[in-house]
Amino acid sequence: MDDSPICTKRIKLADPADKAEDRATDVQSQDESDGKSVVFKQHPALEDQGKHEIEVLDKDYESAISWKTCTKNPGHFDFIPTAKFSQENLPEKFRDEDIYQFIKSWALLTVRLVTTFVSRDRTEKSPFFSSRGTYFPRTGTGKVTDVYHFDDEDTPCPCQECASSKTPAKIWKAIWIMTAMHVVFDDTEVESTTVDFFYEDEESKSDIVKLKGLRVVDFNLDGDWCKFECATHDLDFAQRIEDALSPMMDLGEKIQEKFEDDDDLNMAVIASHPHGCAKCITVGKWSDVRKFEKKNDNVRWTTYSYTTATCKGSSGAPVWILGTDRRHMYAYYSHVHSEGGDPTTGEPNKSGAGDVLKTWEI
Ligand SMILES: [Zn+2]
Ligand SMILES: [Zn+2]
Repeated sequence: MDDSPICTKRIKLADPADKAEDRATDVQSQDESDGKSVVFKQHPALEDQGKHEIEVLDKDYESAISWKTCTKNPGHFDFIPTAKFSQENLPEKFRDEDIYQFIKSWALLTVRLVTTFVSRDRTEKSPFFSSRGTYFPRTGTGKVTDVYHFDDEDTPCPCQECASSKTPAKIWKAIWIMTAMHVVFDDTEVESTTVDFFYEDEESKSDIVKLKGLRVVDFNLDGDWCKFECATHDLDFAQRIEDALSPMMDLGEKIQEKFEDDDDLNMAVIASHPHGCAKCITVGKWSDVRKFEKKNDNVRWTTYSYTTATCKGSSGAPVWILGTDRRHMYAYYSHVHSEGGDPTTGEPNKSGAGDVLKTWEI
């Protein structure tokens, strides 16, 4: 059986200006064209991110190779391309039309992020601390959370095209993306980030819409999440996003009602771009929930552990938890994938903060 059903073609990303090649390690792989064994250089920054799961792409190193040489999930059998996802992929108890429709919309809002710059302000605990101020392409995952409409004469479209135009569009949409803070750290990294919408499969890459990141709108370093803004005056594209976003609240409420009295809800679903390849859905169970409270900041949140499969490139991906303690379903602050575990030892994957609640009562 072909072990690379999704990422069979090589993907070339932006040219990195990496200066750390002497630290590169070698990875052996089979070249598809002639079957010969080829040695690829693995980017040294891969070793500088702890348990986080950003995919790092060297200028001679392509994500298809990374997909093939993956040791965490060889064969990627748990990764279901979005077009092939069906109710059969869910545990029997959750084979429900509303859950299925929710996951389809939620997955459509999931995006690939390609970032090139490493902020000079990354903290010591952040991945790529030793590469601050350098450029190399790397991929993570994010998801659209909000769309805002603008048609004010004084607020022209800030997209890349309009920024250099004498006649910028007056009607435009701001699109907010949520990811992990270890994926996109601050404004300097957001500005070097490209967001790829609708990268559903290798064969229809012409459907991909690309937007540049503009600015961070909210973040939490301890909770490892970040929200940033993009803009578009392509109203047809924006409508596709809004059409996916609009039914989610209703579906979330219906699912909540349906499973209200069930106190054995343990599903965790993730949509991500493993190794920077086309989008996949993985389904598993959450095993542990932790609650955090920061009284001084009037903030509290939860984090989850789960068996749901993730790989490099899944960092920042949305994690949809169906659990008794958490009924947000469609919430503004959902959980993002933060750390990868080890399937061979049973160590689960972990999310960043979700269900974030800010209270201002003293
Ligand atoms: Zn993998
Ligand atoms: Zn524009």
